[in-house]
Formats: sequence, structure tokens, C-alpha cells
Amino acid sequence: MVSTNGFAAHSSTTPLVPFAYEHRDPGAKDILIDIQFCGICHSDIHQARNEWGNSLYPMVPGHEIVGTVRAVGSEVKKFKVGDLAAVGCMVDSCRTCPSCSAGEEQYCERQATVFTYNSKGKDGKLTWGGYGEHIVLDEDFALSVPKNLDLAAAAPLLCAGITTYSPLKHWKVGPGKKVGIIGLGGLGHMGLKFSHAFGAHTVQFTTSASKIEDAKKLGADEVILTTKEGWATKHAGSFDFILDCVSAEHDLSPYLSLLKRDGTLCAVGAPEKPASIHAFSVLGRRNYTGSMIGGIAETQGMLDFCSKHNIVSDIEMTSFDKIEEAWECVVKGDVKYRFVLDLKTLKR
Ligand code: NAP
Ligand code: ZN
Ligand code: ZN
Repeated sequence: MVSTNGFAAHSSTTPLVPFAYEHRDPGAKDILIDIQFCGICHSDIHQARNEWGNSLYPMVPGHEIVGTVRAVGSEVKKFKVGDLAAVGCMVDSCRTCPSCSAGEEQYCERQATVFTYNSKGKDGKLTWGGYGEHIVLDEDFALSVPKNLDLAAAAPLLCAGITTYSPLKHWKVGPGKKVGIIGLGGLGHMGLKFSHAFGAHTVQFTTSASKIEDAKKLGADEVILTTKEGWATKHAGSFDFILDCVSAEHDLSPYLSLLKRDGTLCAVGAPEKPASIHAFSVLGRRNYTGSMIGGIAETQGMLDFCSKHNIVSDIEMTSFDKIEEAWECVVKGDVKYRFVLDLKTLKR
């Protein structure tokens, strides 16, 4: 067994505390990664606090993982010892259903997607995430990290990056399209960077006046402060696609009114409480849909795109003794734009 130190939540109401646990010994197709950096995703907080009602404890959160391969099984082909490797939100799936066969393992039709944490592996044991020293997983679900990217700033690509890249690609965002991004947080700022890089006219919606100048620097052609009276009127019926990256309850009707006929509002944000939509908001043949992370092949494609276009996350480094403070900042929307944990700050 691979003895590992990390931080875990033991209930929805108690803070994360140091925790010792074990990963399996690497099997023939497994790699063992020494984790160097892990991003803090709002999903870590939703799940540790059981806001989605599906939490398993003890929970070692973290699914924006980058590090160095320390050991490889006898049949491993993609990695050798010393390589950089990354892990996102999934570590396994059924691999044979139509979704898995199409490289969309996150939509596994047998409900057999094994998530990086808060999930059980095929051996029935809890999985442990990136707020710890090591991870062991099948090489098929590990990603290669392009060498030209700053390693800490690349970590958030593994969730915030792919979660925004995948729907923007799926709905063919590009030149000639008017695209909105709601919420300038971890996901939102990556969505903004990608939409801009794909050549769309990109409009950032934010509730934070303090983020307006940043949004322009990150690639927004226009920024709309949604706390201002009448903000939606000027843009009514003009958007092809809007990506909703908000983590808390908010009214969808003004955003639906901004869509053109056949335009699409896509949720990636997953607030604790359900949203309500009046039929009149969508009767103009407007689509409301959602998207979850992205498949493994697409995630590698996203990393290669980032390598080519030199795209990483804007990060603030933090340490294990400040996790609770960092989480409170995330909940308040006060992070520019992703916290990343440095595993060197973990006391062993
Ligand atoms: P985050 O960094 O906290 O960003 C959320 C942003 O939403 C904030 O920065 C803020 O932007 C806005 N916001 C927060 N509270 C709001 C409120 N009450 N009303 C309006 N806007 C508000 O979170 P994140 O890590 O990007 O994650 C965002 C959401 O996506 C979370 O729910 C997370 O669980 C979910 N998620 C889903 C997937 C998926 O596969 N679908 C993957 C990862 C994460 P402004 O300050 O600009 O208004
Ligand atoms: Zn995430
Ligand atoms: Zn499957």
C-alpha cells in the first residue's frame, strides 16, 4: 500500500484536518504520482459540505492535480518515471458503453464513472483526491502535461479548463458568434480565455465591479455588471451561446432573454439549490442545457491547445494551513482566479 498524508473532511460541518490514508500499490496499468500542486475548485467545497447531498467521508478533495510520476506498472505505455502527469475529475469508467466508447467517459451510461474523490473505485474502496501527497490511477485516465506550461498554473486546467473548453467546442463557439460567460471565478475566467482564443465576440457578466478591468485584460470584448439596473435590456435577443459558471443560486430569466432564437444557455455551475425557469423564458425556441467536465481525449486536446496558445489559469498560491481561509474567499467570489495548493506546504 502507498501510505499518504493529506487533508480530509470528516463531516459536512467540520473543517479539513490532517489525515493519513492508503492508495493501492500500483497495478500493471497504474502509475503512482507524487503530487506537486492541486487547484481548489468550488466543487471541493460543495462536496465537503455535502451541498449536493452525495458526500462520502472521510473525503480528501482535489481534482486539479499535477505532479511527477514516481512509479509505473509493468504494462504502462504512456508514462515513465520522472514524467509530468496530471489528473482531473475522473480516474475510471466502464469503458465499453456508447459514451465511454465515444471518449465521453464522464457521461458513462452504466453510471460507472469513478470520480477522483467522493467516489468508489471498482474495488469498492473510496477514492482520494489531490489534497494529499500521492495518487495511484490507471494510466488511461492520466494526462500528459505540456512542458512549456507553468506547472502550478496548469493545475486548474484539469477541471476549470476542460469544463469550459468542452461546451465551447461542442456548441462551436468561434468567429462571428456572440458569447457570454456568467461569473468571473475559476471556471469563468478560463471560459473567457477560451472563448476569446476561439475568436468569438465575448461578453463577461459579473456581479463584482472590482473585476471589470481584469475581465477586459483576460479577453472580454465587453463586460456587463449585473448588479446595475436594466443591464439586460441593450443585449436582448443577441447571444448565440452563454456559459453559466455561477456557483450559487441566481435568476436565469434575464440570461435566457439575451439569447437569439435557437441560442443556448449552458449550465456548468452547479449551485446547491435548483433553478426555476418559466416556460415564457424559453418559448422563443431557446435552449437550456448543461455540460460536465470533458472526456480524457478531449482533456488532452485542451492541454495541447493551451500549450500551443500559452494559456494557463491566473492563480494565487496557498498552503495547507490556510485552506479554510482560501475556501471562505472562494465562497465570497474573492479569488483571482484560482487558488492552488503547494504540496510542499503539507507537514509530514
Ligand atoms: P468560483 O471560483 O467560486 O466562481 C463562481 C463565480 O460565480 C464567482 O466568482 C462569482 O463571479 C459568481 N457568483 C458567486 N456567487 C454568486 C451569486 N450569489 N450570484 C451571482 N454570481 C455569483 O467557482 P468555480 O470553481 O469556478 O465553480 C463554479 C461552479 O461550477 C461551482 O458550482 C462548481 O461546483 C461547478 N463546477 C461544475 C463542473 C462541471 O463539470 N459542470 C466542473 C467544475 C465546477 P462574479 O464575482 O464575477 O459575479
Ligand atoms: Zn472542479
Ligand atoms: Zn461507460
